[in-house]
Amino acid sequence: MLKPKKIPQRQCVGCRTMKNKRDLIRVVKSPAGEISLDFVGKKPGRGAYLCPDSACLTRARKTKALERAFETAIPAEIYDALLAQMEAADGT
Ligand SMILES: [Zn+2]
Repeated sequence: MLKPKKIPQRQCVGCRTMKNKRDLIRVVKSPAGEISLDFVGKKPGRGAYLCPDSACLTRARKTKALERAFETAIPAEIYDALLAQMEAADGT
């Protein structure tokens, strides 16, 4: 018998809402300290999650929620890549 699958919940660092992990974008800090986007959810390192919503990104940027989560500066290109990713998601 298969057990019912439990969907992991994660909190968006922008709006602080708990959502299904697969509905969020994962940002990951590698053990080497590099920040990147993780589209498959399998990169090693510490992760933080955002809704695919530019409002959440804007809020996270304003409150430095990602900086706090990773205890490091977030390069502007990471925010740009996130925004591009969210706009691409919006378009579908
Ligand atoms: Zn959010």
